[in-house]
Amino acid sequence: MPILLDGRSLTREIQNALGQEARLLPRPPGLGVILVGHDPASRVYVDRKAAAATRLGFHHVQIDLPEQTTEAELVFEVDRLAEDPAIDGFLVQIPLPPGIRRDRVLDRIPATKDVDGVHPENLGLLALGRPRFVACTPAGIMRLLERGGVPLAGRTATVIGRSAIVGRPMSLLLDRANATVTMCHSGTADLEACVRRADVLVVAIGRPHAIPGTWVKPGAAVVDVGMHRLPDGRLIGDVDPDGLDAAGWVTPVPGGVGPMTIAMLLSNTLEAARRSQVDRA
Ligand code: NAP
Repeated sequence: MPILLDGRSLTREIQNALGQEARLLPRPPGLGVILVGHDPASRVYVDRKAAAATRLGFHHVQIDLPEQTTEAELVFEVDRLAEDPAIDGFLVQIPLPPGIRRDRVLDRIPATKDVDGVHPENLGLLALGRPRFVACTPAGIMRLLERGGVPLAGRTATVIGRSAIVGRPMSLLLDRANATVTMCHSGTADLEACVRRADVLVVAIGRPHAIPGTWVKPGAAVVDVGMHRLPDGRLIGDVDPDGLDAAGWVTPVPGGVGPMTIAMLLSNTLEAARRSQVDRA
């Protein structure tokens, strides 16, 4: 049976350490979160972020805006958090309602407060091998792989999905770890072949059970980023677990990647606080 890459226990460990480090700063790290509209999944995510930040003693500001918010109104709130000296880092929860240009909003977040790692400057620094704030989900996946002792250098990695927040930074991080990376997307001609040769497989496509477990190479590490709630309340991922018995490592859904994403957000916020409160002092 595969080894479970348990995000919950690693998250607890990381968050305990972050809470202790935060107490050494002149003032608590400040995290801002902006939510626009009523997307139920987004509501759950921002509530979890708020609960974790509060538990660690971080200063936390939550701005809830109605569905009808205009782009100009959202940009106004982004600028307010950008100028707030008590806020070290903040994020705008995605997806945004139609009519708001996501890039326009995300580009407006100062790169030094971009704890979600979505600003072009931060993604560019990662691409150059000089990471500053790395997107939280792929950063958390790297910690899970490291904790599980999954070998990366010289191995073949396949990342399915190329979004700016998951797939693309994931590929860059695996490349930095000296894996040989194939990035797949909706235009990939033979997805099955790319999966079958992967020693490390990361799936972030947002389609429930789209990748059959039977495609996975025996002994491979499988990281399932997908999260889909079924009508009966269960959460499932992008990988069909049937046939995964021969894998070497797997992330559970839930309890794998999801908690790590929040831990890395808090880690980035602490780092932003350290840079603004200590390095600048
Ligand atoms: P996204 O922006 O929608 O990107 C999806 C990517 O998957 C795109 O690059 C798309 O290709 C590719 N794709 C879609 N269908 C495909 C197919 N049949 N075959 C191959 N590639 C396909 O999604 P995202 O933001 O990266 O998120 C992906 C999933 O991860 C979602 O389920 C999301 O809920 C989940 N997620 C979980 C966490 C967590 O903390 N656990 C965090 C973030 C996201 P094209 O580029 O060609 O369109």
